[in-house]
Parts: sequence; structure tokens; C-alpha cells
Amino acid sequence: MERVKILSLEFINPRLVHLILDYKKDFEAGQFAMLKHPDGNVKRAFSIASSPLDEHWEFIIRINEGGRFTPGLRNLKAGDELEVAGPYGHFVFQKEDRETLFIAGGAGISPMRSMVRYAHQEGIFRNSDYWLFYGVNVPGDFAFFDEFTTMDREVENFHFVPVVLEPPADWKGDTGFVMPAIEKRFGKDLSGKVAYICGPPPMVKAVREFLEEHNMPKEDIRFEQW
Ligand SMILES: Cc1cc2nc3c(=O)[nH]c(=O)nc-3n(C[C@H](O)[C@H](O)[C@H](O)COP(=O)(O)OP(=O)(O)OC[C@H]3O[C@@H](n4cnc5c(N)ncnc54)[C@H](O)[C@@H]3O)c2cc1C
Repeated sequence: MERVKILSLEFINPRLVHLILDYKKDFEAGQFAMLKHPDGNVKRAFSIASSPLDEHWEFIIRINEGGRFTPGLRNLKAGDELEVAGPYGHFVFQKEDRETLFIAGGAGISPMRSMVRYAHQEGIFRNSDYWLFYGVNVPGDFAFFDEFTTMDREVENFHFVPVVLEPPADWKGDTGFVMPAIEKRFGKDLSGKVAYICGPPPMVKAVREFLEEHNMPKEDIRFEQW
């Protein structure tokens, strides 16, 4: 593993960290890295949340209370070091100009943000639309909310659909799980489109079943679950 410096470590909320390492190496959007504390022996996998064209490797990490790696992030700050190895993994963005649904649950936004950003920077989608459906429990759980909102406004064929399970009274967007939000936009026929899904296993399972029931062929449904 390589020892690298932390450029920035910010808490989006008490359980969600945006980590930026002073590190860059070639990878494909969707891949992950292994991280380890220099004094520890616990390594964990984290999807790279920045695009391969960005200057640094970024991560969105959910703190698992009682976990052996993530709570230790609370003791780190910019300038401290972590060990990193990678990239690894086969859940990667395939550069196809077909209407694409990126579907994220919670911290599962990490590889989706990498793919969406990369697709935008590279101008992959010329003749088709691409969508980001991003489900969280409460609005405070969103990462990169302003970035996706701005991109939705500025990029004509990109659409950001934030979905909140437990909405506060002033929430104006979609509520519940991501599936009704998808059905609201496309109805019951998703054939011809491609989907990438990342999130907790029950979410990924439910979304896969939903997509298959809506005529999306299995080979067009790509997913990663933690
Ligand atoms: C390919 C891949 C990509 C991933 N990308 C991300 C990402 O981008 N962001 C992200 O947040 N996560 C990601 N993960 C998940 C991440 O790798 C870790 O699994 C997760 O962060 C938990 O690590 P931990 O060491 O803190 O918890 P662990 O020590 O692994 O513990 C996990 C849970 O088990 C409980 N537990 C631990 N020990 C016990 C015990 N003895 N008895 C009962 N319960 C126990 C803990 O309370 C905790 O909630 C990814 C995983 C994979 C495989």
C-alpha cells in the first residue's frame, strides 16, 4: 500500500465523511480502493467518488458505529496520512450513448458520482439523456447535492432526481423509495435503457427486481452492493 496525505476530511453530517486524498492514479469510473490507517491492520474497500479526470481521489464514507475502520476517521484531519491501494473492481462505467439511469442509495452515491462526472466531462451522452436517482433517509444525508443540482440546471440532457424517505415538511421533491420516482418519469417500460445501481443490498435487490419487472434486460442492469 502507498502512504498518502489527507488533503481534506469534512463531515457532511456526523455519520458521513467526504475525504479527499492528495493522490491520483489512473482508474475507471466505478472502481474502488482499499484504505488503511498506517498504525492499524484493518483494510476496507471504498469506491472512488471523483472522476478519473479529476486531480485527486475522493471518497464518501459512512461511519459504521462499532465498525473497526470507519469510526477512526473521526480522529483524522487534513495533513494526516492513510495507506491506499488500488484501483480494483469490475463495476465500471461503459461508455455507451444510450439513455442511462444511475441509481444510488445512501453512500452508494460514491461510484455513481464518479460515473456521472466523468460522463459529463467526456461528453459521452450526445444523443441520449442520463439520470441520477439518489435516495437517502433525510436531506442531511445528501452528498454533492449542490453539484448535482447545478449540473441538472446547466446540462440539458442530465437530470437529477433526489428522493427522501423521511421528508421534512418543506421538502418539495420525490419521497419514499427510488422506484416510484423512476416509474413516475418512465412509466412501465424501461426497455432500451441501461442502469447502474449502488447501495445497501436490500435496496439494490429491490431496484433490480423493479427494473426487470419494467422490461429492462438483465444484461443492461449493472450493480454493486456493499
Ligand atoms: C467494493 C466496495 C466498495 C465500497 N465502497 C464504500 C463507499 O464508497 N463508502 C462507504 O461508506 N462504504 C463502502 N463500502 C463498505 C466498506 O468497505 C466497509 O464495509 C464499511 O465502511 C464498514 O467498515 P468498518 O470497518 O467501519 O466496519 P466493520 O468492522 O466491517 O463492521 C461492519 C458492521 O458490523 C458491526 N460489527 C462489527 N463487529 C461486530 C461484532 N463483533 N458483533 C456485531 N456487530 C459487529 C459494526 O457495528 C458495523 O456496523 C464498500 C464496500 C465494498 C465491498
